[in-house]
Amino acid sequence: MGNSIPEILDFTGSLFDVVGIAGHAGYGKLLIVGLESKPERNLDEFGLENNKIKLFGFQKYMSPLLESALSFIRERGYAAEPVGRYGYPLQGQLNLKELAVQAGIGKRGKNSLVLHNKYGPRLRLAAIKIDAPSQSQDEATQKEMESPFCRNCSLCLEACPVSIIEPYRVADISRCLSRIEVMKKDRNGQLIPCDECLKVCPAGKG
Ligand code: SF4
Ligand code: SF4
Repeated sequence: MGNSIPEILDFTGSLFDVVGIAGHAGYGKLLIVGLESKPERNLDEFGLENNKIKLFGFQKYMSPLLESALSFIRERGYAAEPVGRYGYPLQGQLNLKELAVQAGIGKRGKNSLVLHNKYGPRLRLAAIKIDAPSQSQDEATQKEMESPFCRNCSLCLEACPVSIIEPYRVADISRCLSRIEVMKKDRNGQLIPCDECLKVCPAGKG
């Protein structure tokens, strides 16, 4: 068995803004990919259809790239499956933020999001379970680390309208105003997340 991870990372790195490899006790090896959400590519476009959550942004922008990544990996003879719809585990099977930090994609911010040097807190993440072989030294070993952006900053804690952010964790996620159940809708029926903790974050704003 060779080491196929570098060529998989090379190819998927040409599709996505960020890529990395993480390990999970239940899922095994995971390819973590991310795209920056921005006005012209809004990954945060959610909606409800027949009371089911629809990830319109992921469907539009993440899905075609995931398909290319899956084809590339499978054509090399390895199994590859997105975790959840469009690689986004809705049922909380996986903590993508923890996995992205483990994969070295970014570091944890006080707002609990993954902060990236260039993309700040605007990365939207997806996971693909893969069985491609690698040598152990190629596995990401980075442990969770706090982002240097957060030194001397607490803007997200101050901005949260319901005061549920404690440094590096959301104390009571059931009160978060970005939960699907409580989000307001715009005139097109799309759900509008609160995201105040993300909007004020200076990380990755150049
Ligand atoms: S707003 Fe400040 S403290 Fe909060 S995550 Fe961003 S850099 Fe860190
Ligand atoms: S999305 Fe809004 S309510 Fe939820 S943690 Fe961030 S600032 Fe607070």
